[in-house]
Amino acid sequence: DGPVVIVGAGHGGYQVAASLRQAGFSDRICLINDEAHLPYQRPPLSKAYIKGSAGPESLMFRPEKFYQDQKIELIAGRAVSIDRSEGKVHLASGEALAYGHLVLATGARNRLLDLPNANLPDVKYLRILDDSEALRKIMPSKTRVVVIGAGFIGLEFAATARIKGLEVDVLELAPRVMARAVTAEVSEYFQERHREAGIRIHLGVQATAIEAEGGKVTGISLSDGRHLPADLVVVGVGVLPNIELAAEAGLPVAAGIIVDEYLSTADPHISAIGDCALFASPRFGGSLRLESVQNATDHARCLAARLTGDRKAYDGHPWFWSDQGDDKLQMAGLTTGYDRVVLRGSPANKAFSAFCYKGEKLLGIESVNRAGDHMFGRRLQGMDRSITPEQAADESFDLKSALA
Ligand code: FAD
Repeated sequence: DGPVVIVGAGHGGYQVAASLRQAGFSDRICLINDEAHLPYQRPPLSKAYIKGSAGPESLMFRPEKFYQDQKIELIAGRAVSIDRSEGKVHLASGEALAYGHLVLATGARNRLLDLPNANLPDVKYLRILDDSEALRKIMPSKTRVVVIGAGFIGLEFAATARIKGLEVDVLELAPRVMARAVTAEVSEYFQERHREAGIRIHLGVQATAIEAEGGKVTGISLSDGRHLPADLVVVGVGVLPNIELAAEAGLPVAAGIIVDEYLSTADPHISAIGDCALFASPRFGGSLRLESVQNATDHARCLAARLTGDRKAYDGHPWFWSDQGDDKLQMAGLTTGYDRVVLRGSPANKAFSAFCYKGEKLLGIESVNRAGDHMFGRRLQGMDRSITPEQAADESFDLKSALA
């Protein structure tokens, strides 16, 4: 009832607007966009986009005409406060927008490196198109980059920088790369592949200082006493969800904006989706906050359905991908709490999947260059089925038979 106002025009925000119109929603839709571009896809920013020469328009979900045709009002600006009693969002420009329903799709922002010199121009982050553009511009004049953080984005960038001919060092505090997200088997595979490509990976170390001369970065000091020369630093040490707008409006927040299984905040007129939302998950138990395109877009579709009369609890099946050099990692399911890993295929052949089990229960599959296994995992989960660890390990077992 009444206009839907969406704060944030990223993957989630764009998708709510598009899905609302698709479902026949006829009232006003305002999509508040604090970036100076039409809504765009984020994943290529650390992959194809940084490698290539295509312009920003190659990333856009839709051309401007789509928003005009669909009567989705793109409102340039930043939401600064919510007046819940009046049902209004205030923008930095002083303008106020009345809402019948408010969607918070504010995403996350980079965790900043807390070191002196971290704000020099040669220290970069990767979250928004402008970051990727800045890196594309600066990279041809650089020879040696230190990447801080061996998570997905750090490693994707490292692989790209190496392909572009830079010397690359990667620092990671944990004992293996992508440690929070993947099994040791997959970490080891990627460590080896990046090393083969000539990337130096330093595990169990931290950057303790950024050295600079005349405002230009010259190197990084490490917690083990070593120094690495560098003329560029790229930081990928995780993100913080953008929860402040909700918190200041008195909505419950923790490690995200707290929403129930319908993605509603404590205020029935306000929902939160995507990277910023800490959502109740009956399927996985407890609360989850995920950072993926799948999560943001499936949240958006679920919410658009509810706002047009089809109220269902969110029950998406998580999946994710990461392209690093020539390797494609794809993940289906949530593997937290696994106690057994079974490999199908072989890392030596550069194509394998790690099936993660808790007891006899398949929690998820991490596939490296095995797209078929990944698609199988997604379909199997959609059917709420499993296969045994013995079947997973047996290459002669026909996965398709489990879907019949
Ligand atoms: P976002 O897409 O971050 O959008 C939030 C938007 O809200 C932003 O534009 C922000 O500026 C805006 N905003 C915030 N506060 C306000 C305000 N007060 N007023 C107005 N606007 C505001 N996921 C994958 O699944 N696979 C990948 O390979 C992958 N690669 C990635 C590579 C990079 C470099 C990055 C940064 C992310 C990647 N991700 C990937 C993650 C994925 O992009 C995010 O999970 C997804 O974008 C989340 O969508 P969202 O709508 O929640 O947030």
